[in-house]
Amino acid sequence: MLNSVKGMALTFFSTLKGLRKPVTQQYPAKPTPVKERFMGFPALTWDDKVPEPFCTGCMVCVRNCPTQCMSATMKDNPLFAEGKSARRKIIDQFEINLNRCILCGICVELCNFDAIVMSHEHEMSTYQRNGDRADLPALLEIGKKYQQTTNWQPPSAKTKATAAPSPKPQPAAAAPGETKS
Ligand code: SF4
Ligand code: SF4
Repeated sequence: MLNSVKGMALTFFSTLKGLRKPVTQQYPAKPTPVKERFMGFPALTWDDKVPEPFCTGCMVCVRNCPTQCMSATMKDNPLFAEGKSARRKIIDQFEINLNRCILCGICVELCNFDAIVMSHEHEMSTYQRNGDRADLPALLEIGKKYQQTTNWQPPSAKTKATAAPSPKPQPAAAAPGETKS
C-alpha cells in the first residue's frame, strides 16, 4: 500500500515537473546562441580606419591550410600609393571552400595581420556540392557581422596595449641637507 502511494506521488510530481517551461529550443525559428569562443567558419576582417580589408594576401594561411581549401591573390594597394594606408599590398581575390574547411583555426593562428577570424557563422548548408565556396565579398560580410556582434578588436592592438611599458619611477626627492653622491 505504502509503495503504491509512493509510486503515485512520484508520478504526480514528475507530471508537475513536465508542466514547467520546456527546455527544448525551437530551432531553427529560435537559434541557440553560441558562446563567445565558438569557432565557426573562418572570415576576413575589415579595417574601418582606412577603410579596407586587413588582409594583404600574403598567402601564409593558404600555404598552411591542412585541407588546402583556401586560395588568394594580392595586388598593389592604391590607398598605399595615395598615402592613406600602411599596407603596400592588399588582397585582390580570396576564396575558401567552406565545405572542406575543418575549422581548425590554423589560418587564424598564423595570420600576422589580424586579417582572419573564426566567426560565429555555422548555418550555411546548401544542396550543391560546391555551394559553400565563399569569395572575398562573402568572407568580408561574415567577418564584419562577427566584428560588430562581438565588438572585435585586432588582437595585435590588444597585445600592444597590455604590453605598454609602465611609466618610469621618479627618483625620490633628496631630504633637506642631503647631498647626492
Ligand atoms: S588572411 Fe592573413 S595570412 Fe591569410 S593571406 Fe590574408 S594576411 Fe595573409
Ligand atoms: S580553419 Fe583550418 S581548414 Fe579551415 S580554412 Fe583555416 S586553416 Fe583551412
